[in-house]
Amino acid sequence: MNPAGHTPALTSRLPAVGTTIFSVMSALAQQHGAVNLGQGFPDFGCDARLLDAVNQAMRSGHNQYAPMAGVLALREGISEKIATLYGRHYHPDREITITAGATQAILTAVMAVVRPGDEVILLDPCFDSYAPNVALAGGIAVHVPLAPDTFAPDFDRIAQALSPRTRLIIVNTPHNPSGTVWSGADMQRLTDLLRPTDVLVIGDEVYEHMVYDSVPHQSIARWPELAARSFVVSSFGKTYHVTGWKVGYVAAPAAMTAEFRKVHQFNVFAVNTPMQHGLADYLRGPQHHLALAAFYQRKRDRFAQGLQGTRLRPLPCAGTYFQCVDYSGVSREDDNTFCERLTREIGVAAIPMSAFYAQPIQQGLIRFCFAKEDATLTLALERLCLL
Ligand code: GLN
Repeated sequence: MNPAGHTPALTSRLPAVGTTIFSVMSALAQQHGAVNLGQGFPDFGCDARLLDAVNQAMRSGHNQYAPMAGVLALREGISEKIATLYGRHYHPDREITITAGATQAILTAVMAVVRPGDEVILLDPCFDSYAPNVALAGGIAVHVPLAPDTFAPDFDRIAQALSPRTRLIIVNTPHNPSGTVWSGADMQRLTDLLRPTDVLVIGDEVYEHMVYDSVPHQSIARWPELAARSFVVSSFGKTYHVTGWKVGYVAAPAAMTAEFRKVHQFNVFAVNTPMQHGLADYLRGPQHHLALAAFYQRKRDRFAQGLQGTRLRPLPCAGTYFQCVDYSGVSREDDNTFCERLTREIGVAAIPMSAFYAQPIQQGLIRFCFAKEDATLTLALERLCLL
């Protein structure tokens, strides 16, 4: 019995989960005045024309609920963009839904299709929301490691993990945290592997416009057989430097979209209206996303080159705005301890790689975000030279 006024004892839905590492490291960075290369977000502003477009939308009265599935003009813009880039036509009304960021899109997709006892294949390391999403749906996360050195998908192990209870696999390319990208051959292997099954796919493609060295992004939308069983998720926050707006979308065949919206409508109902109108307007203008890879490739190269002057060893980065480094030449500490000390003593925050694993393993790896002003990267590098 609880004494009056006391909160009853809780049985946690997520007993093993603490506060996400991104919030923890950002708070620590702030507390110590460190350069924050931990949580992934740009430290520079977005295009003033995008701000004007949102401002204009607010002033012209777009301030009440948007349609549940999203502002149609925005869905039309997305449909056109996907068709131009990847050659698949998603019907704006029946196959595209605007979400409050990609994290919400992924949870909603999981809740829409995973029933208690269903298995969901996750490829570790993976973004830290996936496994809790599966747990909330009552599903069972089946963790399959990516290849240890290259972080490429290991299709033999994925094949072994498939079972009659497998409902879903979550694919993330370009990959957070490793910065690897899936090749066309990888997509073909996945297509072949899933052909005899009813397994669905979530394609987390939020870094779709950050693929470097003239390599094309292999969106699931390019692969008709895969697209027919997939939720393809992306994010305006990443592409237009507005992570705080929390606007993303999901493109999926009509039957999957219908199930998705059943959950979405009772979760967020609709996403904020003026941002959607502003983004729709902006999408009608020049195709800014086409310049993003060159913009970030320059930062990647600048940062990786600067790292040569430190005792950290950069891993290859083919996509995303993350650079992983091996710190085993500097310290034998575990990656959490090392990241904490790096923030406190050196003044640079990073994310420990073990945060992306179900069974944390120590590899001497941490992740930096290089979506920063050149001056920020220079300052971080000066400090990292002290290691
Ligand atoms: N996607 C970002 C990252 O990996 C952070 C997102 C978040 O903080 N939830 O750093």
